[in-house]
Amino acid sequence: MIRPDRNTKTIGITTTIPSEVLLAAGYQPVDLNNVFIADSNPERLINIAERDGFPLNCCSWIKGIYGVCKERRLDTVLCVTTGDCSNTIMLMEVLKHKGFNTIDFAYPPQPDMKRMQEALQSLADTLGTTLEAASRVRDELRACRSLLMKLDELTWKEGVVSGFENHLWLVNSSDLNGDRHEYQRGLQTLLAECRKRPPYPKDWLRLAYIGVPPVYAQDLHKFLEGNSARVVFNEIQRQFAMPDPGNSLAEQYTRYTYPYSIHHRLRDITGEMEKRHVDGVIHYVQAFCHRGIGDIVFRGSIDLPILTLEGNDEFFLSQHVKTRIEAFIDMLQRNGKHSRKALSI
Ligand code: SF4
Repeated sequence: MIRPDRNTKTIGITTTIPSEVLLAAGYQPVDLNNVFIADSNPERLINIAERDGFPLNCCSWIKGIYGVCKERRLDTVLCVTTGDCSNTIMLMEVLKHKGFNTIDFAYPPQPDMKRMQEALQSLADTLGTTLEAASRVRDELRACRSLLMKLDELTWKEGVVSGFENHLWLVNSSDLNGDRHEYQRGLQTLLAECRKRPPYPKDWLRLAYIGVPPVYAQDLHKFLEGNSARVVFNEIQRQFAMPDPGNSLAEQYTRYTYPYSIHHRLRDITGEMEKRHVDGVIHYVQAFCHRGIGDIVFRGSIDLPILTLEGNDEFFLSQHVKTRIEAFIDMLQRNGKHSRKALSI
């Protein structure tokens, strides 16, 4: 492993990592996915990757991440090689080949505290910090993380936060938007504002969104709300906020479900959907992503209507996708809320 130059200060990350360790070492993690998707012209970043030889049938997130690294001339990228995406391994090889410093981080194959502790120790050694220092950062972030859980509760319980706001703030918790203090202040302001809002109508459909974050998040959530349906559970986005922190850093990242088996995710998903009185599920899959195969498991295990949507590199909902969503909502409305029939489209 290469220890990054401390003058660099920012380290690009390919997915949620134990950011407490980076912060303790004096580095600012920057989630490359968030930079890619927030860009006003994300196609440009994909084009950078394709010009350098990334194939057309490679996931857009991987190409977008690569485009961000090149355009921003990032010095160091922390690549998660186990627990996220097999494509990241080859992305890391290409980045190294192009002269970037890369650090690899592997989640244990199973949520095992001892192995998680070893993985954290190895990351701390690489970055030149200690787990005691990272644990202090964890304590500092506690207030911010509990505000995120409050935001989530205001979404599904009080109905005063939109599904998109919920998505955006939770997804950005992977790197706390590049500035944890400003992020926390912004969150406090939003919560105060939301508490003054009237709640969403009680007769709207309540949906769960499961799967990796979509390439067309804003469009999707807004389109749903335009059709009297709202997302009250953004599964993986919520996981990025560490909803089950346990008593230590190792426990926190062991309880984080995303890196592990789909069955660990399912336990979280079914429990939350029950609690949130969800009427139907949108499972988003990214084109060319291995996680899409998990749709078989979800359809066999979730006793609610499921709509599977696949996105690639269109950053807005196509008319075809809109029609499928409308048909799904119509079906849920016709079948009555909370029908719990295993219907699917
Ligand atoms: S969507 Fe799938 S293929 Fe794309 S980066 Fe994420 S895990 Fe990898």
